[in-house]
Amino acid sequence: MKKVIIRKSEDLKNWRKNINSDINFIPTMGNLHNGHIKLISTAKNDNSNINLVSIFVNPLQFNNKSDLKNYPKTIDNDIKISLANGADVIFIPSTEDIYPPDNKNINYLKASKKLSSALCGLNRIGHFDGVCTVIYILLNLIKPKNLYLGEKDWQQLLILKNLILKKKLNVTIKSIPTQRDFDGIPLSSRNVHLSKNERKLIRIFSNELLLAKRIFQKEKKISLKEIMKKLSAEKISIEYLEHLHPHTLQKTKVKDNFSILAGAIKCGETRLIDHVFLMKRKAIIAIDGPAGSGKSTVTKLLAKKLKLLYLDTGAMYRALSWLLIKENIDYKKEKKLQNILKDISIVFKSNGTSHQDVFINNYCVTEEIRSQEISSIVSKISSIKVVRKFLVEEQRKIGESGGLVAEGRDIGTTVFPSAELKIFLTASIDERAKRRKSDKQSKDSREISLQKLKELIKKRDFEDSNRAISPLIKANDAIEINTDGYSINEVVDKIIDLYNDKIPQETQNQ
Ligand code: AMP
Repeated sequence: MKKVIIRKSEDLKNWRKNINSDINFIPTMGNLHNGHIKLISTAKNDNSNINLVSIFVNPLQFNNKSDLKNYPKTIDNDIKISLANGADVIFIPSTEDIYPPDNKNINYLKASKKLSSALCGLNRIGHFDGVCTVIYILLNLIKPKNLYLGEKDWQQLLILKNLILKKKLNVTIKSIPTQRDFDGIPLSSRNVHLSKNERKLIRIFSNELLLAKRIFQKEKKISLKEIMKKLSAEKISIEYLEHLHPHTLQKTKVKDNFSILAGAIKCGETRLIDHVFLMKRKAIIAIDGPAGSGKSTVTKLLAKKLKLLYLDTGAMYRALSWLLIKENIDYKKEKKLQNILKDISIVFKSNGTSHQDVFINNYCVTEEIRSQEISSIVSKISSIKVVRKFLVEEQRKIGESGGLVAEGRDIGTTVFPSAELKIFLTASIDERAKRRKSDKQSKDSREISLQKLKELIKKRDFEDSNRAISPLIKANDAIEINTDGYSINEVVDKIIDLYNDKIPQETQNQ
Protein backbone atom coordinates (compact mmCIF):
# COMPACT_ATOMS: atom_id res chain seq x y z
CA MET A 1 0.00 0.00 0.00
CA LYS A 2 1.12 3.53 -0.77
CA LYS A 3 2.40 5.26 2.38
CA VAL A 4 0.31 8.28 3.34
CA ILE A 5 0.79 11.25 5.63
CA ILE A 6 -2.44 12.92 6.71
CA ARG A 7 -2.56 16.20 8.60
CA LYS A 8 -6.27 17.03 8.85
CA SER A 9 -9.19 15.17 10.43
CA GLU A 10 -11.33 15.94 7.37
CA ASP A 11 -8.74 14.25 5.12
CA LEU A 12 -8.53 11.32 7.48
CA LYS A 13 -12.33 10.90 7.34
CA ASN A 14 -12.23 10.91 3.54
CA TRP A 15 -9.35 8.45 3.46
CA ARG A 16 -11.17 6.17 5.95
CA LYS A 17 -14.31 6.03 3.79
CA ASN A 18 -12.37 4.21 1.10
CA ILE A 19 -10.61 1.73 3.35
CA ASN A 20 -12.01 -1.77 3.71
CA SER A 21 -9.20 -3.50 5.57
CA ASP A 22 -8.83 -3.51 9.33
CA ILE A 23 -6.60 -0.96 11.00
CA ASN A 24 -4.01 -1.22 13.78
CA PHE A 25 -3.81 2.12 15.55
CA ILE A 26 -0.66 3.23 17.41
CA PRO A 27 -1.16 6.59 19.13
CA THR A 28 1.98 8.50 20.13
CA MET A 29 3.07 11.99 21.12
CA GLY A 30 6.19 11.77 18.98
CA ASN A 31 9.91 11.92 19.72
CA LEU A 32 9.82 8.24 18.92
CA HIS A 33 12.18 5.78 20.59
CA ASN A 34 12.51 2.00 20.75
CA GLY A 35 9.36 1.73 22.89
CA HIS A 36 7.28 3.25 20.09
CA ILE A 37 9.19 1.24 17.50
CA LYS A 38 8.31 -1.96 19.33
CA LEU A 39 4.63 -0.98 19.20
CA ILE A 40 4.74 -0.24 15.47
CA SER A 41 6.73 -3.35 14.57
CA THR A 42 4.58 -5.60 16.80
CA ALA A 43 1.48 -4.30 15.02
CA LYS A 44 3.14 -4.95 11.67
CA ASN A 45 4.10 -8.51 12.60
CA ASP A 46 0.76 -9.39 14.25
CA ASN A 47 -1.39 -9.30 11.12
CA SER A 48 -1.74 -7.77 7.68
CA ASN A 49 -3.88 -4.81 8.80
CA ILE A 50 -3.06 -1.22 7.89
CA ASN A 51 -0.82 0.35 10.53
CA LEU A 52 -1.74 3.90 11.41
CA VAL A 53 0.57 5.87 13.71
CA SER A 54 -0.65 9.18 15.10
CA ILE A 55 1.70 11.88 16.35
CA PHE A 56 -0.11 14.42 18.46
CA VAL A 57 1.03 16.20 21.60
CA ASN A 58 -2.28 16.41 23.41
CA PRO A 59 -2.42 19.62 25.47
CA LEU A 60 -5.37 18.32 27.52
CA GLN A 61 -3.23 15.73 29.26
CA PHE A 62 -0.59 18.20 30.46
CA ASN A 63 -1.22 19.83 33.79
CA ASN A 64 2.05 21.72 33.65
CA LYS A 65 2.44 24.42 31.01
CA SER A 66 6.22 24.28 30.81
CA ASP A 67 6.12 20.47 30.43
CA LEU A 68 3.84 20.97 27.40
CA LYS A 69 5.98 23.75 25.99
CA ASN A 70 9.19 21.75 26.40
CA TYR A 71 7.80 18.43 25.17
CA PRO A 72 10.40 17.28 22.60
CA LYS A 73 9.26 17.61 18.99
CA THR A 74 11.11 15.72 16.26
CA ILE A 75 8.46 15.30 13.56
CA ASP A 76 10.70 14.69 10.53
CA ASN A 77 12.63 12.00 12.31
CA ASP A 78 9.41 10.49 13.70
CA ILE A 79 8.00 10.16 10.17
CA LYS A 80 11.17 8.39 9.02
CA ILE A 81 11.17 6.05 12.02
CA SER A 82 7.46 5.21 11.66
CA LEU A 83 7.72 4.45 7.95
CA ALA A 84 10.88 2.41 8.38
CA ASN A 85 9.26 0.22 11.03
CA GLY A 86 5.95 -0.63 9.44
CA ALA A 87 3.63 2.40 9.53
CA ASP A 88 1.43 2.71 6.44
CA VAL A 89 -0.32 5.90 7.44
CA ILE A 90 0.84 8.71 9.71
CA PHE A 91 -1.69 11.12 11.12
CA ILE A 92 -0.21 14.40 12.37
CA PRO A 93 -3.06 16.75 13.24
CA SER A 94 -2.66 20.21 14.74
CA THR A 95 -4.16 21.13 18.11
CA GLU A 96 -6.74 23.37 16.36
CA ASP A 97 -7.74 20.49 14.14
CA ILE A 98 -8.45 18.14 17.07
CA TYR A 99 -9.90 20.84 19.33
CA PRO A 100 -11.32 23.54 17.00
CA PRO A 101 -11.53 26.74 19.10
CA ASP A 102 -14.99 27.56 17.73
CA ASN A 103 -16.38 24.09 18.34
CA LYS A 104 -18.60 24.07 21.40
CA ASN A 105 -19.40 20.38 20.97
CA ILE A 106 -16.08 18.85 21.96
CA ASN A 107 -16.87 15.79 24.02
CA TYR A 108 -14.65 16.21 27.09
CA LEU A 109 -14.57 12.84 28.81
CA LYS A 110 -13.92 11.82 32.39
CA ALA A 111 -11.69 8.85 33.12
CA SER A 112 -12.92 6.09 35.44
CA LYS A 113 -12.93 7.63 38.90
CA LYS A 114 -11.78 4.44 40.59
CA LEU A 115 -8.83 3.89 38.27
CA SER A 116 -7.77 7.51 38.12
CA SER A 117 -7.88 8.02 41.89
CA ALA A 118 -4.56 6.25 42.36
CA LEU A 119 -0.92 6.59 41.32
CA CYS A 120 -0.43 9.34 38.72
CA GLY A 121 -4.07 10.43 38.95
CA LEU A 122 -3.52 11.81 42.45
CA ASN A 123 -1.07 14.48 41.34
CA ARG A 124 -1.81 14.91 37.66
CA ILE A 125 -5.35 16.22 38.02
CA GLY A 126 -7.27 15.94 34.75
CA HIS A 127 -4.44 14.08 33.00
CA PHE A 128 -6.38 10.88 32.37
CA ASP A 129 -9.53 12.83 31.40
CA GLY A 130 -7.40 14.44 28.70
CA VAL A 131 -6.05 11.06 27.58
CA CYS A 132 -9.58 9.60 27.36
CA THR A 133 -10.86 12.64 25.46
CA VAL A 134 -8.18 12.55 22.76
CA ILE A 135 -8.17 8.77 22.36
CA TYR A 136 -11.96 8.74 22.02
CA ILE A 137 -11.78 11.42 19.32
CA LEU A 138 -9.06 9.49 17.48
CA LEU A 139 -10.83 6.15 17.80
CA ASN A 140 -13.99 7.66 16.33
CA LEU A 141 -12.05 9.09 13.41
CA ILE A 142 -9.87 6.05 12.71
CA LYS A 143 -12.24 3.22 13.70
CA PRO A 144 -9.42 0.74 14.19
CA LYS A 145 -9.75 -2.95 14.99
CA ASN A 146 -6.73 -2.96 17.32
CA LEU A 147 -5.27 -0.32 19.58
CA TYR A 148 -1.58 -0.82 20.45
CA LEU A 149 -0.47 0.53 23.82
CA GLY A 150 2.63 0.23 25.97
CA GLU A 151 2.49 -1.41 29.38
CA LYS A 152 4.93 1.25 30.48
CA ASP A 153 1.85 3.43 31.05
CA TRP A 154 -0.04 0.67 32.87
CA GLN A 155 -2.57 2.95 34.54
CA GLN A 156 -3.33 4.62 31.21
CA LEU A 157 -3.80 1.19 29.65
CA LEU A 158 -6.32 0.17 32.34
CA ILE A 159 -8.19 3.45 31.98
CA LEU A 160 -8.41 3.13 28.20
CA LYS A 161 -9.56 -0.47 28.52
CA ASN A 162 -12.29 0.78 30.81
CA LEU A 163 -13.20 3.55 28.33
CA ILE A 164 -13.54 1.07 25.47
CA LEU A 165 -15.76 -1.13 27.62
CA LYS A 166 -17.90 1.77 28.82
CA LYS A 167 -18.34 3.20 25.34
CA LYS A 168 -18.91 -0.29 23.92
CA LEU A 169 -16.32 0.27 21.21
CA ASN A 170 -15.38 -2.65 19.02
CA VAL A 171 -11.63 -2.26 19.55
CA THR A 172 -9.15 -4.76 20.98
CA ILE A 173 -6.26 -3.44 23.04
CA LYS A 174 -2.94 -5.12 22.32
CA SER A 175 -0.15 -4.32 24.73
CA ILE A 176 3.60 -4.56 24.63
CA PRO A 177 6.05 -4.86 27.54
CA THR A 178 7.95 -1.83 28.81
CA GLN A 179 11.06 -1.32 26.70
CA ARG A 180 14.10 -0.34 28.73
CA ASP A 181 17.35 1.37 27.89
CA PHE A 182 20.77 -0.28 28.31
CA ASP A 183 20.90 0.86 31.95
CA GLY A 184 17.49 -0.52 32.92
CA ILE A 185 15.48 2.72 32.81
CA PRO A 186 12.25 2.72 30.80
CA LEU A 187 12.55 4.50 27.48
CA SER A 188 10.60 7.72 27.55
CA SER A 189 10.40 10.75 25.29
CA ARG A 190 11.12 12.87 28.35
CA ASN A 191 14.48 11.16 28.99
CA VAL A 192 16.17 13.70 26.68
CA HIS A 193 15.62 16.31 29.40
CA LEU A 194 17.68 14.39 31.96
CA SER A 195 21.06 15.62 33.08
CA LYS A 196 23.75 13.03 33.81
CA ASN A 197 23.00 13.13 37.51
CA GLU A 198 19.22 12.98 37.02
CA ARG A 199 19.67 9.96 34.80
CA LYS A 200 21.70 8.33 37.54
CA LEU A 201 18.80 8.88 39.96
CA ILE A 202 16.23 7.30 37.71
CA ARG A 203 18.62 4.41 37.12
CA ILE A 204 18.87 3.82 40.88
CA PHE A 205 15.08 4.00 41.16
CA SER A 206 14.41 1.58 38.28
CA ASN A 207 17.04 -0.85 39.45
CA GLU A 208 15.57 -0.77 42.96
CA LEU A 209 12.20 -1.79 41.51
CA LEU A 210 13.80 -4.56 39.48
CA LEU A 211 15.60 -5.75 42.60
CA ALA A 212 12.32 -5.73 44.55
CA LYS A 213 10.89 -7.99 41.86
CA ARG A 214 13.71 -10.49 42.25
CA ILE A 215 13.39 -10.43 46.04
CA PHE A 216 9.64 -10.94 45.76
CA GLN A 217 10.13 -13.97 43.56
CA LYS A 218 12.09 -15.63 46.35
CA GLU A 219 10.55 -14.24 49.53
CA LYS A 220 7.00 -13.56 48.29
CA LYS A 221 6.94 -10.22 50.07
CA ILE A 222 8.50 -6.78 49.93
CA SER A 223 8.81 -3.89 52.33
CA LEU A 224 7.67 -0.58 50.83
CA LYS A 225 9.13 1.22 53.83
CA GLU A 226 12.59 -0.23 53.23
CA ILE A 227 12.56 0.63 49.54
CA MET A 228 11.44 4.19 50.34
CA LYS A 229 14.20 4.48 52.91
CA LYS A 230 16.84 3.34 50.43
CA LEU A 231 15.58 5.76 47.76
CA SER A 232 15.44 8.67 50.20
CA ALA A 233 19.02 7.93 51.23
CA GLU A 234 19.96 8.47 47.58
CA LYS A 235 18.14 11.84 47.72
CA ILE A 236 15.54 10.65 45.23
CA SER A 237 12.41 12.73 45.34
CA ILE A 238 9.58 10.20 45.41
CA GLU A 239 6.14 11.36 44.35
CA TYR A 240 4.60 7.99 45.16
CA LEU A 241 5.53 4.35 45.54
CA GLU A 242 2.61 1.96 45.82
CA HIS A 243 2.05 -1.76 45.98
CA LEU A 244 -1.36 -2.39 44.42
CA HIS A 245 -3.63 -4.92 42.79
CA PRO A 246 -2.69 -4.71 39.10
CA HIS A 247 -6.23 -4.39 37.77
CA THR A 248 -8.19 -2.52 40.42
CA LEU A 249 -5.26 -0.36 41.60
CA GLN A 250 -6.53 -0.88 45.15
CA LYS A 251 -4.11 -1.84 47.94
CA THR A 252 -2.87 -5.37 47.36
CA LYS A 253 -4.09 -8.10 49.71
CA VAL A 254 -2.01 -10.90 51.23
CA LYS A 255 -3.89 -13.49 49.18
CA ASP A 256 -3.13 -11.76 45.84
CA ASN A 257 -0.71 -13.75 43.75
CA PHE A 258 -0.16 -10.92 41.41
CA SER A 259 0.47 -7.22 42.15
CA ILE A 260 2.13 -4.09 40.81
CA LEU A 261 4.82 -2.03 42.48
CA ALA A 262 4.61 1.37 40.83
CA GLY A 263 6.33 4.64 41.49
CA ALA A 264 6.91 8.15 40.19
CA ILE A 265 9.92 10.28 40.94
CA LYS A 266 10.87 13.83 40.19
CA CYS A 267 14.32 14.35 38.63
CA GLY A 268 14.84 18.11 38.42
CA GLU A 269 11.91 19.36 36.34
CA THR A 270 11.23 15.95 34.86
CA ARG A 271 8.76 13.49 36.31
CA LEU A 272 9.27 9.82 35.47
CA ILE A 273 7.29 6.68 36.19
CA ASP A 274 8.25 3.05 36.41
CA HIS A 275 6.77 -0.19 37.71
CA VAL A 276 7.33 -3.91 38.05
CA PHE A 277 4.80 -6.70 38.33
CA LEU A 278 5.28 -8.98 41.31
CA MET A 279 4.15 -12.58 41.14
CA LYS A 280 4.25 -15.19 43.87
CA ARG A 281 4.07 -17.74 41.09
CA LYS A 282 3.60 -17.59 37.33
CA ALA A 283 0.09 -17.42 35.93
CA ILE A 284 -2.26 -20.40 35.87
CA ILE A 285 -5.15 -20.98 33.47
CA ALA A 286 -7.85 -23.34 34.71
CA ILE A 287 -10.03 -25.01 32.11
CA ASP A 288 -13.01 -26.97 33.38
CA GLY A 289 -15.99 -28.45 31.68
CA PRO A 290 -17.85 -31.64 30.93
CA ALA A 291 -16.51 -34.56 28.89
CA GLY A 292 -16.34 -33.85 25.17
CA SER A 293 -16.51 -30.07 25.45
CA GLY A 294 -13.19 -29.81 23.61
CA LYS A 295 -11.11 -29.25 26.74
CA SER A 296 -8.20 -31.53 25.89
CA THR A 297 -7.68 -30.33 22.34
CA VAL A 298 -8.11 -26.69 23.31
CA THR A 299 -5.84 -26.94 26.34
CA LYS A 300 -3.07 -28.73 24.45
CA LEU A 301 -3.01 -26.12 21.72
CA LEU A 302 -3.29 -23.28 24.19
CA ALA A 303 -0.31 -24.59 26.17
CA LYS A 304 1.72 -24.83 22.99
CA LYS A 305 0.84 -21.32 21.79
CA LEU A 306 1.40 -19.67 25.16
CA LYS A 307 4.43 -21.82 25.98
CA LEU A 308 2.84 -23.04 29.20
CA LEU A 309 3.00 -26.43 30.83
CA TYR A 310 0.01 -28.63 30.04
CA LEU A 311 -1.56 -30.41 32.98
CA ASP A 312 -4.16 -32.97 31.94
CA THR A 313 -5.71 -33.88 35.28
CA GLY A 314 -8.27 -36.18 33.63
CA ALA A 315 -5.36 -38.29 32.36
CA MET A 316 -4.16 -38.64 35.95
CA TYR A 317 -7.55 -40.03 37.06
CA ARG A 318 -7.62 -42.26 34.00
CA ALA A 319 -4.09 -43.54 34.61
CA LEU A 320 -4.96 -44.40 38.18
CA SER A 321 -8.16 -46.16 37.04
CA TRP A 322 -6.07 -48.12 34.54
CA LEU A 323 -3.69 -49.29 37.26
CA LEU A 324 -6.50 -50.29 39.60
CA ILE A 325 -8.11 -52.40 36.87
CA LYS A 326 -4.81 -53.87 35.72
CA GLU A 327 -3.76 -54.89 39.19
CA ASN A 328 -7.25 -56.03 40.06
CA ILE A 329 -7.41 -53.78 43.10
CA ASP A 330 -10.69 -53.47 44.92
CA TYR A 331 -10.95 -49.70 45.05
CA LYS A 332 -13.89 -49.90 47.47
CA LYS A 333 -11.49 -50.92 50.26
CA GLU A 334 -10.34 -47.49 51.34
CA LYS A 335 -7.47 -48.53 53.64
CA LYS A 336 -5.91 -50.74 51.01
CA LEU A 337 -6.34 -48.05 48.40
CA GLN A 338 -4.68 -45.49 50.64
CA ASN A 339 -1.65 -47.78 51.01
CA ILE A 340 -1.39 -48.25 47.27
CA LEU A 341 -1.58 -44.52 46.60
CA LYS A 342 1.54 -43.95 48.68
CA ASP A 343 3.63 -45.73 46.05
CA ILE A 344 2.06 -44.27 42.96
CA SER A 345 3.89 -41.89 40.72
CA ILE A 346 2.22 -40.21 37.75
CA VAL A 347 4.47 -38.33 35.37
CA PHE A 348 3.92 -36.44 32.11
CA LYS A 349 6.66 -36.48 29.52
CA SER A 350 6.73 -34.68 26.23
CA ASN A 351 7.19 -37.22 23.46
CA GLY A 352 8.72 -34.79 21.03
CA THR A 353 5.64 -34.53 18.80
CA SER A 354 2.63 -32.45 19.72
CA HIS A 355 1.63 -34.90 22.45
CA GLN A 356 2.80 -35.71 25.91
CA ASP A 357 2.83 -39.23 27.33
CA VAL A 358 1.38 -40.24 30.68
CA PHE A 359 3.30 -42.69 32.82
CA ILE A 360 1.99 -44.40 35.92
CA ASN A 361 4.65 -46.24 37.90
CA ASN A 362 6.78 -46.13 34.76
CA TYR A 363 4.12 -47.67 32.46
CA CYS A 364 3.32 -45.53 29.48
CA VAL A 365 -0.49 -45.56 29.37
CA THR A 366 -1.24 -42.69 26.97
CA GLU A 367 -3.28 -44.86 24.59
CA GLU A 368 -4.89 -47.36 26.93
CA ILE A 369 -6.45 -44.79 29.24
CA ARG A 370 -8.72 -43.62 26.42
CA SER A 371 -10.61 -46.93 26.20
CA GLN A 372 -14.32 -47.12 26.92
CA GLU A 373 -13.52 -49.46 29.81
CA ILE A 374 -11.62 -46.65 31.52
CA SER A 375 -14.16 -44.00 30.47
CA SER A 376 -16.92 -45.95 32.17
CA ILE A 377 -15.08 -46.34 35.47
CA VAL A 378 -13.06 -43.12 35.82
CA SER A 379 -15.91 -41.02 37.19
CA LYS A 380 -16.51 -43.57 39.99
CA ILE A 381 -12.83 -43.71 40.86
CA SER A 382 -12.44 -39.97 40.83
CA SER A 383 -15.30 -39.64 43.29
CA ILE A 384 -13.41 -41.63 45.95
CA LYS A 385 -12.30 -39.23 48.66
CA VAL A 386 -8.75 -40.57 49.15
CA VAL A 387 -8.13 -40.66 45.38
CA ARG A 388 -9.32 -37.11 44.99
CA LYS A 389 -7.21 -35.91 47.91
CA PHE A 390 -4.11 -37.69 46.61
CA LEU A 391 -4.41 -36.45 43.04
CA VAL A 392 -5.36 -32.89 43.98
CA GLU A 393 -2.18 -32.73 46.07
CA GLU A 394 -0.13 -34.12 43.19
CA GLN A 395 -1.65 -31.54 40.83
CA ARG A 396 -0.93 -28.70 43.22
CA LYS A 397 2.69 -29.86 43.48
CA ILE A 398 3.01 -29.74 39.70
CA GLY A 399 1.43 -26.27 39.68
CA GLU A 400 3.36 -24.84 42.61
CA SER A 401 5.34 -22.36 40.56
CA GLY A 402 2.56 -21.78 38.01
CA GLY A 403 3.18 -21.23 34.33
CA LEU A 404 0.66 -23.86 33.35
CA VAL A 405 -2.72 -24.51 31.89
CA ALA A 406 -4.62 -27.26 33.65
CA GLU A 407 -7.77 -28.97 32.46
CA GLY A 408 -10.24 -31.01 34.42
CA ARG A 409 -13.51 -30.64 36.25
CA ASP A 410 -12.52 -29.01 39.52
CA ILE A 411 -9.45 -26.99 38.56
CA GLY A 412 -10.95 -23.54 39.08
CA THR A 413 -12.95 -24.55 42.15
CA THR A 414 -10.68 -26.95 44.05
CA VAL A 415 -7.21 -27.50 42.59
CA PHE A 416 -6.23 -23.93 41.70
CA PRO A 417 -8.97 -21.64 43.05
CA SER A 418 -6.54 -18.72 42.71
CA ALA A 419 -5.95 -19.31 38.97
CA GLU A 420 -5.67 -16.00 37.11
CA LEU A 421 -7.97 -17.12 34.31
CA LYS A 422 -10.77 -19.63 34.66
CA ILE A 423 -12.61 -20.95 31.65
CA PHE A 424 -15.64 -23.21 31.70
CA LEU A 425 -15.91 -24.92 28.33
CA THR A 426 -19.24 -26.39 27.36
CA ALA A 427 -20.91 -27.81 24.28
CA SER A 428 -24.32 -29.37 23.64
CA ILE A 429 -24.71 -33.12 24.21
CA ASP A 430 -25.27 -33.63 20.44
CA GLU A 431 -22.05 -31.84 19.58
CA ARG A 432 -20.06 -33.66 22.25
CA ALA A 433 -21.33 -37.07 21.11
CA LYS A 434 -20.35 -36.24 17.52
CA ARG A 435 -16.86 -35.21 18.66
CA ARG A 436 -16.41 -38.39 20.71
CA LYS A 437 -17.48 -40.45 17.68
CA SER A 438 -14.83 -38.92 15.49
CA ASP A 439 -12.13 -38.96 18.19
CA LYS A 440 -9.22 -40.73 16.56
CA GLN A 441 -7.67 -41.57 19.90
CA SER A 442 -10.72 -43.51 21.03
CA LYS A 443 -11.24 -46.70 19.05
CA ASP A 444 -14.15 -47.77 21.24
CA SER A 445 -16.11 -44.56 20.69
CA ARG A 446 -16.10 -45.17 16.95
CA GLU A 447 -17.70 -48.56 17.51
CA ILE A 448 -20.52 -47.24 19.72
CA SER A 449 -23.64 -45.71 18.15
CA LEU A 450 -24.20 -41.96 18.40
CA GLN A 451 -27.34 -42.52 20.45
CA LYS A 452 -25.47 -44.70 22.95
CA LEU A 453 -22.68 -42.13 23.18
CA LYS A 454 -25.23 -39.42 24.02
CA GLU A 455 -26.62 -41.58 26.81
CA LEU A 456 -23.14 -42.28 28.15
CA ILE A 457 -22.30 -38.56 28.11
CA LYS A 458 -25.52 -37.71 29.95
CA LYS A 459 -24.75 -40.36 32.55
CA ARG A 460 -21.18 -39.08 32.93
CA ASP A 461 -22.42 -35.49 33.31
CA PHE A 462 -24.82 -36.61 35.99
CA GLU A 463 -22.13 -38.51 37.90
CA ASP A 464 -19.60 -35.69 37.57
CA SER A 465 -22.05 -33.01 38.64
CA ASN A 466 -23.59 -34.92 41.52
CA ARG A 467 -20.68 -36.52 43.28
CA ALA A 468 -20.17 -35.39 46.86
CA ILE A 469 -16.51 -34.41 46.47
CA SER A 470 -15.39 -31.76 43.98
CA PRO A 471 -18.38 -32.03 41.67
CA LEU A 472 -18.23 -30.48 38.22
CA ILE A 473 -19.42 -26.92 38.77
CA LYS A 474 -18.53 -23.65 37.19
CA ALA A 475 -16.42 -21.41 39.46
CA ASN A 476 -18.09 -18.07 40.20
CA ASP A 477 -15.31 -16.20 38.46
CA ALA A 478 -15.06 -18.54 35.46
CA ILE A 479 -15.88 -17.37 31.96
CA GLU A 480 -18.18 -19.77 30.15
CA ILE A 481 -17.47 -20.52 26.50
CA ASN A 482 -19.89 -22.67 24.52
CA THR A 483 -17.82 -24.27 21.79
CA ASP A 484 -20.76 -25.36 19.55
CA GLY A 485 -20.08 -24.19 16.03
CA TYR A 486 -16.61 -22.82 16.77
CA SER A 487 -13.36 -24.24 15.46
CA ILE A 488 -10.64 -25.24 17.90
CA ASN A 489 -8.51 -22.33 16.71
CA GLU A 490 -11.32 -19.84 17.26
CA VAL A 491 -11.80 -21.06 20.84
CA VAL A 492 -8.04 -21.01 21.51
CA ASP A 493 -7.71 -17.48 20.11
CA LYS A 494 -10.59 -16.30 22.26
CA ILE A 495 -8.91 -17.72 25.38
CA ILE A 496 -5.57 -16.16 24.38
CA ASP A 497 -7.31 -12.76 24.10
CA LEU A 498 -8.78 -13.25 27.59
CA TYR A 499 -5.37 -14.29 28.93
CA ASN A 500 -3.64 -11.28 27.38
CA ASP A 501 -6.32 -9.08 28.85
CA LYS A 502 -5.56 -10.36 32.37
CA ILE A 503 -1.84 -11.06 32.26
CA PRO A 504 0.57 -8.31 31.22
CA GLN A 505 2.92 -9.24 28.39
CA GLU A 506 5.71 -8.16 30.69
CA THR A 507 5.15 -11.18 32.92
CA GLN A 508 4.39 -13.74 30.25
CA ASN A 509 7.88 -14.81 29.33
CA GLN A 510 9.63 -14.41 32.66
P1 AMP B 1 3.73 8.55 24.26
O1 AMP B 1 4.34 8.96 22.99
O2 AMP B 1 4.60 8.74 25.44
O3 AMP B 1 2.33 9.06 24.45
O4 AMP B 1 3.57 6.96 24.12
C1 AMP B 1 2.89 6.37 23.06
C2 AMP B 1 2.74 4.89 23.32
O5 AMP B 1 4.03 4.32 23.47
C3 AMP B 1 1.98 4.59 24.61
O6 AMP B 1 1.13 3.49 24.38
C4 AMP B 1 3.07 4.27 25.58
O7 AMP B 1 2.67 3.43 26.61
C5 AMP B 1 4.08 3.59 24.67
N1 AMP B 1 5.42 3.66 25.24
C6 AMP B 1 6.12 4.75 25.58
N2 AMP B 1 7.30 4.42 26.11
C7 AMP B 1 7.36 3.07 26.12
C8 AMP B 1 8.31 2.11 26.56
N3 AMP B 1 9.48 2.46 27.10
N4 AMP B 1 8.01 0.80 26.41
C9 AMP B 1 6.85 0.44 25.88
N5 AMP B 1 5.91 1.27 25.45
C10 AMP B 1 6.15 2.58 25.57
